[in-house]
Amino acid sequence: MSDLDNIRKTLEQIHLIQTQLNDLNGSLRRAPLVLKAQEGNIQKQLANLAQINETYQKLKADAKQKELEVAANDQALAKRKTQLQESKSNKEFQALQLQIKADEAARSVLDDEALEAIEKAEQYASNVPVAEAELKKLRDLYETTKKKFLEEKPKIEAQIIQLQQILETEESKLPRDFGEIYNRLIRNVGGNEALAIVENQKYCGGCNHQIPINSLAQILQKKPITCSSCARLLYLPEDFVFDKG
Ligand SMILES: [Zn+2]
Repeated sequence: MSDLDNIRKTLEQIHLIQTQLNDLNGSLRRAPLVLKAQEGNIQKQLANLAQINETYQKLKADAKQKELEVAANDQALAKRKTQLQESKSNKEFQALQLQIKADEAARSVLDDEALEAIEKAEQYASNVPVAEAELKKLRDLYETTKKKFLEEKPKIEAQIIQLQQILETEESKLPRDFGEIYNRLIRNVGGNEALAIVENQKYCGGCNHQIPINSLAQILQKKPITCSSCARLLYLPEDFVFDKG
């Protein structure tokens, strides 16, 4: 294996590890954010449920109120009917008859209103269990996510430590001039953004910028070359074929 091949393989290996580390660190960072978002959804649903319960209680109270009005009207009607039987004069009799007619008409309206109010409350009632079920679903999801994260966290952390050790070994294999550029990039842009493979014989795998033939030739001469557009340190794929034209 030539030196060029060794450098190529080392850079490729480092890039792979850096990408894996980036993914693992990303999932560690993401987990609390996911939990926070899910917690927010639970809070929203709690407020929604409270609103639904309040509306339902109000509809039930409306129905109850209408039923009381019907009962009060019935009572008044019964009272007038007794008065009618006990009426002493014709004038009084006629007045009570008119009153009773009016009460009966009012009762019919009140009855309809009461029925409507009861129906409305009954129809609305199903919103409560639906909202409660949704809340339970959100809480279950939160618990499942939290449990999964707590189980995965130590595994991910162990993987990170293991990868970092392999990374150090690989980094120590880099020739000095490569190492200097690589370390500077690591400090400035982070591991995952430090390297890029040359794609389709001439494009930067990081930003798709076309790499001049001159630069490709220099890479083949074991020179550390960075992309002039995104500054990533470039390395060649195993099947790279140098095309001069
Ligand atoms: Zn680039």
